[in-house]
Amino acid sequence: MSYNDIDTNITNDHNMLKQSVRDFSMEVLRPAALELDQMSPEQVVEKNSLFHDCMRKMYELGYHTAMLPAEVGGLGLDPLGQHIFFEEVGCASAGFAVAIAVAAFGPFFTALTGNAELIGKYVIPFTECKDASNFSCWAITEPNHGSDNLAVGTSHFQNPDIAQQVRAVKKNDQWILNGQKSAWVSCGPVATNAVVFVNIDPLMGMAGGGICVVDLTQPGVSKGKPLDKIGQRELPQGELYFDDAVVPEEMMFFKQDSYEIMTGSTLAHANAIMGAIFTGVARSAYELSLQHSLERCQGGKLLCQHQSVQKSLFGMFRKVEAARSLSRKVLNFHLTTAIPDKKYSIASKVTCTNSAFEVANDASQLFGGYGLSKEYPIEKIFRDARAGLIEDGSNDILEIVGGNQIVKEEE
Ligand SMILES: Cc1cc2nc3c(=O)[nH]c(=O)nc-3n(C[C@H](O)[C@H](O)[C@H](O)COP(=O)(O)OP(=O)(O)OC[C@H]3O[C@@H](n4cnc5c(N)ncnc54)[C@H](O)[C@@H]3O)c2cc1C
Repeated sequence: MSYNDIDTNITNDHNMLKQSVRDFSMEVLRPAALELDQMSPEQVVEKNSLFHDCMRKMYELGYHTAMLPAEVGGLGLDPLGQHIFFEEVGCASAGFAVAIAVAAFGPFFTALTGNAELIGKYVIPFTECKDASNFSCWAITEPNHGSDNLAVGTSHFQNPDIAQQVRAVKKNDQWILNGQKSAWVSCGPVATNAVVFVNIDPLMGMAGGGICVVDLTQPGVSKGKPLDKIGQRELPQGELYFDDAVVPEEMMFFKQDSYEIMTGSTLAHANAIMGAIFTGVARSAYELSLQHSLERCQGGKLLCQHQSVQKSLFGMFRKVEAARSLSRKVLNFHLTTAIPDKKYSIASKVTCTNSAFEVANDASQLFGGYGLSKEYPIEKIFRDARAGLIEDGSNDILEIVGGNQIVKEEE
């Protein structure tokens, strides 16, 4: 059974990309994610674990460069290609989709500077890396700052009484970092570098921030225990501690003057990718439900022959289609516009993660008792989808941020 695509912009190249990413993701990533789901977080991050094996295989295929343009050695996918890529990986495993997206965070930010020397030094070696030894992550959330770190554009962001906990202080030609990022940093336990959102000027509140790439292998950095959590357990997460960690001036890419704009732009990018990933999560729950309904007999007929089951399947299908349409349109807009507009990306993230959770919930119902059992992947997809409502900004706060922007634009 293969899920149809009615997008008339799809070319032969897109179809080939879709098929190859789908085959690899379903044959390698889905079974691995189910196995990793049953392991302890410590086992997941162990050297030579199944997680590392899958990441190495993705690097060999160049998946770590899916967000990067061809000029710096990336796959050079167009917006529709990037959507197809993240939908397919997300369909097999939300956790691996997030892992491979954050793996590119450092090189992605470095490429944004347009600085040829830095690109040659940091981005090209990353795109050429095939053994997953060069691995980035995004560290913004802190023990005392989760949602508010993402509340760009609200009055809260300029409140001088509230500032990020990780402080960067300039000493000669380098920055010294102190403080902690929370246990939610995706791939924190395995990453070799991180894009860290810090505070430079506390008097400006959250807006007085900076964005830098930090080498996590230096003595001034330590890591916490990998986090034990409900969903996306194949995705390792954990704290980062900075104790006089050093960042060369050239790696402090953005400072107070551009911090708020760049944080909004990062949120817009991350949320647009999340829309694609969770379209895949919703589709996986729908596809499994349809398959199950064609196989299981109840009340003297197959589940799919009951009218109420057909109605339920159609509701799921409708939500997948709506999620796909919106998230494709938004990702295309985000990747082709000069000035990112975060309200569209937020709309995509909130809609697609809500849809994924609703479809996974309906799917669990359709599976009956089996929906609760580890015998089928649906219970894991349900837990993965639940995490999506909080990941990359909890949906209720993102809605406040988006609503605040809409009102401000009219004032
Ligand atoms: C699977 C997963 C992956 C993640 N990956 C990363 C990552 O790679 N890097 C990273 O840095 N972070 C990451 N995060 C962290 C994520 O972005 C935060 O969890 C999220 O921003 C929410 O922050 P919090 O958990 O501190 O919740 P809080 O900020 O404590 O919010 C909890 C709840 O309190 C309420 N609330 C909070 N503030 C307000 C307000 N002002 N007004 C009204 N109600 C409010 C809301 O209901 C909110 O949902 C990840 C999270 C998950 C679940």
